[in-house]
Amino acid sequence: MCINKKNLSHEFISSSRVFTVSVLEKESPMKLIGLLGFKSGRDIDKFKDINYKKSPSGAPLLLEHTLAHMECKVIKVVDSLTHDIFIGKLTGAENVKSGEPMTYEYYHVVKKGTTPDTAPVPSGIVKREAGKEEANMQKYVCTVCNYVYDPAVGDPDSGIAAGTPFSDLPDDWVCPVCGVGKEEFKETD
Ligand code: FE
Repeated sequence: MCINKKNLSHEFISSSRVFTVSVLEKESPMKLIGLLGFKSGRDIDKFKDINYKKSPSGAPLLLEHTLAHMECKVIKVVDSLTHDIFIGKLTGAENVKSGEPMTYEYYHVVKKGTTPDTAPVPSGIVKREAGKEEANMQKYVCTVCNYVYDPAVGDPDSGIAAGTPFSDLPDDWVCPVCGVGKEEFKETD
């Protein structure tokens, strides 16, 4: 498990010496990823509206959009500049349901997700360029989390059909990743 040293999770794992991993299903909504990956537990209670249970060690196990759980005890920590790599020994595991897991590639290429500076995956390593944009289908980028609204894709999780220009998004539409309004978006270069 690779965690940015600035993240609250880093503090928790360092002091508790345990961590859990929940494998998300491919269909997981961007809202869930945004909540868990783009917000900090220092600002909000991430688990307030999430269905989860506690593992025997006390760490959380997601119960929604989850295919499997792993529970680990930290046996070694490797310093890697911005991140620490926590090497864990498996102490428990559970298959929740069958399905296809969400890979980082699927999240990034299909869901058009991005990587916050403090994400477990160092940004820049696995980011890819999106396809060529059409001149009349201007993309807009969220200045808070770098999510890119692509009219060719729309925002199916929020009921926005493919082919919807940014200007036609409803006024109450929010960034599916970090939750800010349209005013926080700007045109991509
Ligand atoms: Fe955003």
